[in-house]
Amino acid sequence: MSRYDLSLLFSRTHSAQKSVVSVYLDVDQSKPRNLNRRFERQLKKMAADLKEKLSGVGERERFSAAMHHIQDFITAYSPTDKGIVLFCDAIDDFFWHQAVGFDVVDQIRWGRELFLQPLAAAMDELESCGIVLLDRTKLRLFVLSLGHIEEVAMEKRDGKRVRHIKTSGFNNADSSSHIQRKADNQIRANVREWVRELEQFVKARRLHRLILAGTAEIIAELRKMLPARLGSFVIGQLNLPIKATARQIASAAKTVEATYERGTELEKVQRIITSAATSGKAVKGLAAALKAVNSKRVWELIYSADYQAPGYECWNCSALFPKRATRCSLCGARLVAVDDVVERAVEHALRNQAKIEVVNAEGATALKSAGGIGAFLKTRTGTLAS
Ligand SMILES: [Zn+2]
Repeated sequence: MSRYDLSLLFSRTHSAQKSVVSVYLDVDQSKPRNLNRRFERQLKKMAADLKEKLSGVGERERFSAAMHHIQDFITAYSPTDKGIVLFCDAIDDFFWHQAVGFDVVDQIRWGRELFLQPLAAAMDELESCGIVLLDRTKLRLFVLSLGHIEEVAMEKRDGKRVRHIKTSGFNNADSSSHIQRKADNQIRANVREWVRELEQFVKARRLHRLILAGTAEIIAELRKMLPARLGSFVIGQLNLPIKATARQIASAAKTVEATYERGTELEKVQRIITSAATSGKAVKGLAAALKAVNSKRVWELIYSADYQAPGYECWNCSALFPKRATRCSLCGARLVAVDDVVERAVEHALRNQAKIEVVNAEGATALKSAGGIGAFLKTRTGTLAS
């Protein structure tokens, strides 16, 4: 699954009435609490508790119709991963599911739109990453996406095969340097071929992150030949044998990704704070961030993983406000209290094609002093910063 796949979900608009069930279910079979299909019972319980709270007959019917699809699916489902995410809209029978390789907190939502924030947060944390594992004669390609790893079969283009290097014949002192030179040339030819494979792979999978794995020498050889654009995608490297298992590779790559994420987060937070103070290309704090979301000006929304705030949402135009008011200042309709206006802001920002950055650790501490939330804006403005 890629950011592109998710953009199809993000492009769905909200319905006039509540009709969407969103489910995040922990089905991890390494946890005793999920064995013997107990996750199925957990879902039924969550659904029953939620249904209790629904008032109108029409609403209960729509909820049951959507839940029916989801229950049917789960009844026949064999867990393969840590969690599963499902969405169903009773109005147009839209149904979507995806097994995910990250830790999922059980939850069910009933609303006018898909509940995407946990998926978007995981997407940011675990952006699809290509892993390039190579030695002198072989290249293996992997995609790590939402914690899932998949080895990608390499297609030989133009019928060309990468030749293997003969390593015998080093006993003769006179010819050894010659053989070594020939071997070096062959490695270079192989690497050149692989760079072409890599370009195709990155394009086909829409990747923006790469991890290079192998010995330090071969990685250095590859880096020399990487075009600048591909080079800029590299987030780290790993010392791994060519025969490493997918599990070993995934585990090592996750560490590289996490380190890279933490670094990027802190850097972004620092940039947002400076930018908000000086250039007006960014805003910080809840009120300014919501104003930016309401005016569809957010290019990237940044918030601390643990930051939540109650607020208000306009029933008609979905504008968000940190404080109660008699009417929506944009359209005049009534406002509805929401438990977490930050979560609502994320949903709105996603629907307006904004990027999302959830910050943790040091980045979160730095952002806390700036209000826990901020945004880079699409175009320069003087008015939003105030
Ligand atoms: Zn409004």
